[in-house]
Amino acid sequence: MLRVLYEALMRTLILLLCLFPLIMAAQTNDPNVEQLKQMTARFAPTPIRVDTSHLSSSDKQALVKLIEAARVIDSLFMEQIWSKNLETWNTVKNDHTPLGEARAHYYWINKSPWSALDAEKAFMPGVPERKPLGANFYPEDMTKEEFETWVKTLSAKEQQEATGFFTVVRRDANGKLKLVPYSEEYKQYLQRAGDLLREAAALTDNATLKKFCNERAAAFASNDYYASDIAWMDLDAPIDITFGPYETYNDELFNYKAAFETYITLRDEEESDKLKAFAAHLQEIENNLPEDPKVRNPKLGAAAPIRVVNSVFSSGDGNHGVQTAAFNLPNDEKVVAEKGAKRVMLKNIQQAKFQTVLMPIAERTLSKQQQSDVAFEPFFTHILAHELMHGLGPQQITIDGKKTSPRQQLKELYSSIEEAKADATGLFALQYMMDHEKEMKLEGVLNAGPEAERQLYTTYLASTFRTLRFGITEAHGKGMAFQFNFLVDHGGFVQNPDGTFSVNMQKIKPAVRELTHTLLTLEANGNYDAAKKMLAEMVVIRPATQKLLDRLSDIPVDIEPRFVTAGELTASTTKAPPAVPQRPTRPSRN
Ligand code: ZN
Repeated sequence: MLRVLYEALMRTLILLLCLFPLIMAAQTNDPNVEQLKQMTARFAPTPIRVDTSHLSSSDKQALVKLIEAARVIDSLFMEQIWSKNLETWNTVKNDHTPLGEARAHYYWINKSPWSALDAEKAFMPGVPERKPLGANFYPEDMTKEEFETWVKTLSAKEQQEATGFFTVVRRDANGKLKLVPYSEEYKQYLQRAGDLLREAAALTDNATLKKFCNERAAAFASNDYYASDIAWMDLDAPIDITFGPYETYNDELFNYKAAFETYITLRDEEESDKLKAFAAHLQEIENNLPEDPKVRNPKLGAAAPIRVVNSVFSSGDGNHGVQTAAFNLPNDEKVVAEKGAKRVMLKNIQQAKFQTVLMPIAERTLSKQQQSDVAFEPFFTHILAHELMHGLGPQQITIDGKKTSPRQQLKELYSSIEEAKADATGLFALQYMMDHEKEMKLEGVLNAGPEAERQLYTTYLASTFRTLRFGITEAHGKGMAFQFNFLVDHGGFVQNPDGTFSVNMQKIKPAVRELTHTLLTLEANGNYDAAKKMLAEMVVIRPATQKLLDRLSDIPVDIEPRFVTAGELTASTTKAPPAVPQRPTRPSRN
């Protein structure tokens, strides 16, 4: 007992000693109103609208319930991030000084007092200098070592729960660590959200949505998410929702604990048809890839399902910081082994990002006469092609008589090469389908012809700058630098005297073919040393490119979504549920 007390005292002392200078530093360096406005301006307010006219009247009523249920998740998520988050938020949103309003606006974007774009640094006083690594999933004073030592003392089943998605770790009255299931820890929120999901289930006329809503509501009470994850994989409805604890990024200590998020969306019928048409031709594209015929896959496996949807509303982990434009779920390996995973692409969020971020980038990086060729349709179609192309090209290779994979051979280089491969092969595939539009019966599905080709490559050029402006530290940036430099070296992209770039329409097609060939060959050969040498040369930002990227610093990084349709749907029928922090409504925000 004494030892426990002593340890608790030491922990508090150490914590105070650690935090004190940080809190002091935060106070002196806190951003002022102007600085907060600049930080906030990196997220451009963008209205998110969806056409709901094709929904049945019962589905429309179900949709309202789902939006209400999703709003509950904002509070739950904020509690998951920090024990004093809701309390602090309530104080901040009631501070109507200019500084208070600036803080509240940025707080709501981040759903916390820490700035996601600035390495989770605090932007106001009286809070820890950085977002807690373990968020509110573990006691704030718990170390990695303490957790690991404790886990070893548990039974096999408890160990699984301790390192699993759906429990938090707390201290008991004696300061000892203990497990609390989400169903208990977040009971007040989960009951309310579960009730609303059941109401939605009773209203909708789609059987798969009904099933998912009921199963997920049951999971909130039982803490067993398996059946509802299976129901989510089978969900095939005009209203498509993702609703529950999923991603583990907010647990920076161990990546074990799932944060709650929601995406309330409507299926995009047109893009779903386009995907189906593309998917029917994947084998033909594989058979014509510019690669060694020996590595060709004579029979492609079934592709993972892709859903294209338009977002009506999102909340929790699904609406803070940089907006998610696509995701792969579930993460539970047991479900993935049995049912695979599903990719969901949020088309209207991509479109909002395109308008707000990509168009201004195009205006500063492309020649005047090519700017009019930048268009959303080819941008999104290329993203679809990119996703499909991950399933093409070398998957199984043989090296020295041994069966292996490009991922195993290329190790940490693989993801950059694979992302570049999906991009380049995506361009190649779209060109191939344009060239064979009639034989492949793609008329009406895919735009073809000289204008469509100009749009495809010019939009792609603009999008390379969108990726490169964030540097070349992660796989997409690295892969993009490789492609960009390669296409410049092969004359497909050319720099103009004023520093902007243009597409050379005569050279871009053979250059893309050559690029595709190079990347597929890197994967087919699985030669780590050769790949490493090539990447060292190609994955760089050259001075002329950097000069151009420097022109983009004041363009927004991302959008701040304003869910207009969701607001209209819920305002007319119901009162907002109580005890949920609503974003402050101020004229400047609309
Ligand atoms: Zn990818």
